[in-house]
Amino acid sequence: MNERETAARQTAYREFGLSPEVIAFGEETEKLLRERFDRIDDNAFVTQAKVLTAMQRAGVSEAHLIGTTGYGYSDIGRDTLEKVYAGIFHSEDALVRPQITCGTHALALALQANLRPGDVLLSPVGKPYDTLEEVIGIRESMGSLAEFGVKYRQVDLLPDGSFDYEGIRKALETPVKMVTIQRSRGYALRPTLSVERIGELITFIRGIQPEVIIMVDNCYGEFVELSEPSDAGADLVVGSLIKNPGGGLAPIGGYLAGRSELIEQAARRLTSPGLGREVGATLDVLRSLYQGIFLAPTVTASALKGAIFAAALYEKLGFTCYPKAEEERYDIIQAITLEKEECLLAFCEGIQSAAPVDAHVKPEPWDMPGYDVPVIMAAGAFISGASIELSADGPLKEPYNVYFQGGLTWPHAKLGILKTVQTMADKGLIHLV
Ligand SMILES: *Cc1c(COP(=O)(O)O)cnc(C)c1O
Repeated sequence: MNERETAARQTAYREFGLSPEVIAFGEETEKLLRERFDRIDDNAFVTQAKVLTAMQRAGVSEAHLIGTTGYGYSDIGRDTLEKVYAGIFHSEDALVRPQITCGTHALALALQANLRPGDVLLSPVGKPYDTLEEVIGIRESMGSLAEFGVKYRQVDLLPDGSFDYEGIRKALETPVKMVTIQRSRGYALRPTLSVERIGELITFIRGIQPEVIIMVDNCYGEFVELSEPSDAGADLVVGSLIKNPGGGLAPIGGYLAGRSELIEQAARRLTSPGLGREVGATLDVLRSLYQGIFLAPTVTASALKGAIFAAALYEKLGFTCYPKAEEERYDIIQAITLEKEECLLAFCEGIQSAAPVDAHVKPEPWDMPGYDVPVIMAAGAFISGASIELSADGPLKEPYNVYFQGGLTWPHAKLGILKTVQTMADKGLIHLV
């Protein structure tokens, strides 16, 4: 590096609010992660190839990037995008719609469409994501599946995170219509399931009840591994477009990919019997959905690097991380136990101060509906609430875990994480080693 470059570098970092000590700490840590990052980049070539192949086989053309209005009949862009998703997930069919408002909606749709009164739903991997409690009726709620006479069984993971095969066998002694498996840890400290482990579980379940419909909540897991749960025998995979597969560009939407009959049921539940998938205008979002899925492999790779980098830095600083820095990753979420309220607040302040949007606001804890303690959230996102963008949140209670995820680019993820370290150092909460 010549003098001019060195000066430019120092100025840029200083103006961004990073001290030479924090930069050095980051660079030293990043050096140790080279091999790991190479592997992530290598995977992104594979997943990128998969996405391109699916786009080409579906015959994506310029005319498909333009949407429809009103009823949305003959929306060839929408129908082709659904072929692209089916191609990526190697499934018979897919439903990908801006009318699906979020991940919870996509999951609720999959369940409500394919379960009937008297049917039994089983979660063999413990309590599902918070928002699904009201969908299923684990927490009493108007319009829940329980209200419609759908029964629910749950088998928890064993304390070491492994499947309770005995418990699952028992739960399958009487007929079960549908099984729901959550791939990501979500915001719990249980382990994230690899596609391989999901495959083992599916094989076990099918050995007892071959006909059962197996759905995977794929949120935060897409493109992290080379294959998806649909490659491991899942009948249906479901997720949100403002997470991984939207690539940060999708402004709204959810997807379901799986067996034709299950997708048809979902289409009819989303619109109405008789209309099904034939209606549903895409307005002006198709181009973003196509561009988003095209970028998703590299955006996911950036988020993964960010998660690993954060774990590596914070472990060096003496904090406990889930998963640990050197552990294999099956989703993009990083949890860090920050132990003190001030650390949690400082971490979130740091993430916020690195944002492209709303960097000037200071995140404050608030009483979020559905939580028993105040929650703090940091996000300065282009798409409101998009957690594929650099973001962090955590409930204000012991042990003060922060859940950190996203980063549309690796440089932004890195700068954001360094800002958290800087904020903590400035407040005297940590000492750089
Ligand atoms: C985010 C998430 C959901 C719900 O998605 P929303 O878009 O927030 O409704 C469900 N399951 C898991 C594992 C998630 O991470």
